[in-house]
Amino acid sequence: MPRKILVTSALPYANGSIHLGHLVEYIQTDIWVRFQKMRGNTCHYVCADDTHGTPIMLRAEKEGITPEQLIARVWQEHYDDFAAFHVAFDNYGSTNSNETKESAQGIYRTLKANGLIEVRSIEQYYDPVKNMFLPDRFIKGECPKCHAKDQYGDNCEVCGAAYAPTDLINPFSAVSGAKPELRNSDHYFFKLSAASCQQFLREWTRSGALQPEAANKMQEWLGAEGENKLTDWDISRDAPYFGFEIPDAPGKYFYVWLDAPVGYMGSFKQLCAKSGIDFDNYWKQGSDAELYHFIGKDILYFHALFWPAMLQHAGFRTPTKLFAHGFLTVNGEKMSKSRGTFITARSYVDHIKNTEYLRYYYAAKLNGTMEDIDLNLEDFVAKVNSDLIGKYINIASRSAGFITKHFAGKLTLRSSQEDRELLNQIHEATAEISASYDARDFSRAIREIMRITDLANQYVDSNKPWVLAKDGTQTTRLHEVCSTSLNVFRLLTLYLKPVLPKLAEQIEDFLNIDPLRWQPSLTVLSEGHEIKPYQHLAARLDPKLIEAMVAANQESLKPMTESHSETRHAEHQQHAITPIAETISIDDFSKIDLRVAHIVNAEHVEGAEKLLKLTLDIGEAQPRTVFAGIKSVYDPEKLKGRMTVMVANLAPRKMKFGLSEGMVLAASGETPGLFILSPDAGAQPGMRIK
Ligand SMILES: [Zn+2]
Repeated sequence: MPRKILVTSALPYANGSIHLGHLVEYIQTDIWVRFQKMRGNTCHYVCADDTHGTPIMLRAEKEGITPEQLIARVWQEHYDDFAAFHVAFDNYGSTNSNETKESAQGIYRTLKANGLIEVRSIEQYYDPVKNMFLPDRFIKGECPKCHAKDQYGDNCEVCGAAYAPTDLINPFSAVSGAKPELRNSDHYFFKLSAASCQQFLREWTRSGALQPEAANKMQEWLGAEGENKLTDWDISRDAPYFGFEIPDAPGKYFYVWLDAPVGYMGSFKQLCAKSGIDFDNYWKQGSDAELYHFIGKDILYFHALFWPAMLQHAGFRTPTKLFAHGFLTVNGEKMSKSRGTFITARSYVDHIKNTEYLRYYYAAKLNGTMEDIDLNLEDFVAKVNSDLIGKYINIASRSAGFITKHFAGKLTLRSSQEDRELLNQIHEATAEISASYDARDFSRAIREIMRITDLANQYVDSNKPWVLAKDGTQTTRLHEVCSTSLNVFRLLTLYLKPVLPKLAEQIEDFLNIDPLRWQPSLTVLSEGHEIKPYQHLAARLDPKLIEAMVAANQESLKPMTESHSETRHAEHQQHAITPIAETISIDDFSKIDLRVAHIVNAEHVEGAEKLLKLTLDIGEAQPRTVFAGIKSVYDPEKLKGRMTVMVANLAPRKMKFGLSEGMVLAASGETPGLFILSPDAGAQPGMRIK
């Protein structure tokens, strides 16, 4: 009986590019889905862009476009990136769809009818300049515990303390810089603390739906029996907000995390409409279909608590299993812009082109647990070249030419005992490989495939078709050896097809066969089966391409604070002096608020190769923090106490090491060196430069 399976990957947020870290999950899911489809199961794979929330609204505003325009553009980018990596969704939607809206509102109405929605007035920070309530991450101030400045409204990055935004000392809006006011507003809560929710979640999280390490984490969050650690979940946000309005609650919107997982349903609904699938068959309570969510371990909380509790109490089935994975490190460290290891999908495609190499490498690393996986770039090159090119492709490239040249492209079924034994060994590995794929232990599958690939190479090495071909009396044996090799190659291609779908397609064409499917019985190509002439299938991965990719992603030294100089840096300067920029009006110039700044403090930033952290006084109540790329030319001790010039109204920018709230100015040119500006003696901090 074929299984009925619905699979999702987490929805990428429509506020940034897909990078190699994201791809771990999509590649992992895609391999699993392809395997299930090859086995003959009915398997649907859906995903969507996650499009709502304050960050999207503010970014669109900053770019001078509507949120709809922003999310349409990002959707296309994401869609193209996934296609380039052969991630084959059956539907890729958007949470900003009618289908998701209907589902979210329907779930909300049922929860409300079941007494699980409560309205409460809460006090929250409001930005009187922007006229909006501020999400926690858009409020900053001094940590109430360790008194570190410039910490977010929900937790301190210095001491790790978690607190409410109202606990911050001297809070300010990260959007406008204004001092926020406390205002009351009605918020809608999903009553997660209700006994029925707690009881259900206690059972569900122990039901085997979670990996053991995830189940343990959930028990911590749920607390001991009777402890009732879960609190109600605030599911509303006030206008202005980009999202879905809550039914019968004008000016109130669903919090983005409410409709994100509902996006799985919305996207599947679209697939149902175009493919004639029965939605209820997969989603109604009591459905016999399997539902799997592939997610990163960072979003377990939403998927293992909120989501199943919502589904359970709204008349839907709950997920069969959650498959959580770890994070990606590159060369053993967190991805880093300054090290050039924060690599986008697009940048990989531009430099390396062959995306199946990355699929193969990730497959060789993924074992179905929540452990982090490491992309070691040297090992990546070595593994691709030794496994794929040196071992796997090599089997075909050493046999196919003889079949074309000596036997008119036709294979023989005749075989020796040795040939049959090899084919049996290769075939016997099917069970182990199949079980490993199904358990998402792709690394075990790849190890097994490479073990039998080694056997195949030993066979070719010992039978030496190139020697047989020179000896006119060995034609029969030459035909047998090369035919056996190609039959083995066909089986290996079948095993690798979930990981290397495009290459498998090329090989199916070369072998002149139907698309390979997972079949339990051993089949070989028939007597006289004709293959096409061998053509180059894959090239070695040149380490220079990796170097170029890393270099291109490396944060450049200029200008001072940020990486938005990338394009400028890339421009090849032909002239001794950079061409003067286009003419602007005095109004344009006066938009830039330049201020005299007193460097109160300058210090090294741990882990940053190029940045210094500057604390700048420009006469405001709070000094500003600016990260400047001047470490190579300035000793922080010598900067302390100096006056300089900063752009004071540049939008704050979140960097790896904290928020940068401006930019200091410096001169640079063709010759080496970087020179920060100083006002004449007498200038006071905060004076405007006009
Ligand atoms: Zn702190």
